[in-house]
Amino acid sequence: MIISRKARELTPYVPGEQPGQQGLYVKLNTNENPYPPSPAVEDALRRYRWEDLRLYPDPCSLALRTTIAARFELPVEQIFVGNGSDEVLSFAWYGFFDPENGPVLFPEHTYSFYPVYCDYYGQPYERIPLASDFSVDISLYLERMKEEYAGIVIPNPNAPTGIAISLQEIETLLQATEGKRLVIIDEAYVDFGTETSVGLIERFPNLLVVHTCSKSRCLAGLRVGYAIGSKEVIQTITAVKDSFNSYPLDRLSQKIADIAIQDDVYYDKIRDMIMATRRWFAEAIRKEGWEVLPSQANFIFARYPGASGDAVYHELKSKGVLVRHFGHPGIEDFLRITIGTDREMERLLLLMKDLTCTAGVSKR
Ligand SMILES: *Cc1c(COP(=O)(O)O)cnc(C)c1O
Repeated sequence: MIISRKARELTPYVPGEQPGQQGLYVKLNTNENPYPPSPAVEDALRRYRWEDLRLYPDPCSLALRTTIAARFELPVEQIFVGNGSDEVLSFAWYGFFDPENGPVLFPEHTYSFYPVYCDYYGQPYERIPLASDFSVDISLYLERMKEEYAGIVIPNPNAPTGIAISLQEIETLLQATEGKRLVIIDEAYVDFGTETSVGLIERFPNLLVVHTCSKSRCLAGLRVGYAIGSKEVIQTITAVKDSFNSYPLDRLSQKIADIAIQDDVYYDKIRDMIMATRRWFAEAIRKEGWEVLPSQANFIFARYPGASGDAVYHELKSKGVLVRHFGHPGIEDFLRITIGTDREMERLLLLMKDLTCTAGVSKR
C-alpha cells in the first residue's frame, strides 16, 4: 500500500493514557474535571429530542455562538466554535502561519500539540526558553521579534507549568507585533484563577483568544472549544473550517455546550472547590519536601528534589494513581498532577508520603 509522503512524515500528538478499566486508577493525568457537568446538562440530555439527530446541525452554530458572544458583550461575528479547542487551534495555524514568514514562537515547555501542528502544516517553529523560575519571560519574545517570525502562541496560564503571565505583559507583547502577526493566547485554564485577555481584542485585532469546555465546564467528552477574535480573524478561521468540515459541531454538542456555558452558579462553585483543593494539596506536598510551581490551573507541576520523575510516575502508577510525566530535558523530574476531588487528593497524598523512590533521596 502506498502511503503519502506527508502521512509518513507525521509525528502525532500523544495524549495522556485513557486506561480501558477506568475504575482501577485514580486518573489525574489529563486535566479532566473531577466533577460531573452541570445538572442542567443532565436535564437537557434526558429531554433531548433524539429524532432530531436525523437532521444535519446548524453549520454556523449560531445559537451557541450567540450565547458566547453575549457573555463577552461582543458581536456574534467575533466568535468561532470548533470540535475541541485543538481543532480551533489547528484552523488558526492554517489561516495565519506561513513558513516564508519565519518560525512560530512558543514557550520551550508548553502544550505539546503546538509542535505537532507545525509539523503537520510544514511550519517551522522556535521554542523560547522559560525564565529560571519556569515562567514565560516576555522580554525574550520582544528580543526575538526583532527578526522574522510567523506568529506567537502562548497558553495563559502556561501548561504544564500552570504559571500565568499578566495582562500587562500580553499587552506589551501585542504592541511589539505592530499588528502584523497573529498572537494566540490559549486560555484553556483561564477559569482557574487568571484574567482573560479578551478585553484586549478591540485594540489588538491580531489577538485570538482560545477557550475550551473541556476543563472548567467538565465537558472533555463533548469536544467543544471556541475562539474570540476580531471579525477579520474569525472570518479567516471560518473560511478554513468551511474548506475542511462544514459541520464540526454536532447538534447535541451545540445544545449541551450552550446550556453548560450559561450555568455560572454551578461552575463557579466547582471552580472554587478545585482551587481550594489545589491550595491545600500544594501546601501539603510542599511540607513533604516537594517543590511545587505556583499554579493558576486545575493541575500542579511538582518534583521531589533529587528523585527521578520517571521513577515517581511508575511507582504512583503501580499503586493506582495516574499522573502525567513528560520527561523532556529541563522538566524531566516534574510530574503534572491534575487536581481531583478532595478524596482523590487525600489518597494521593498518603501514597506520596511513603514513596520508596523518594525515601532517603539526598536533597539537592
Ligand atoms: C486541554 C488543552 C487544550 C485542548 O482542549 P480541547 O478543547 O479538549 O481540545 C488546548 N490547549 C491547552 C493548553 C490545553 O491544556
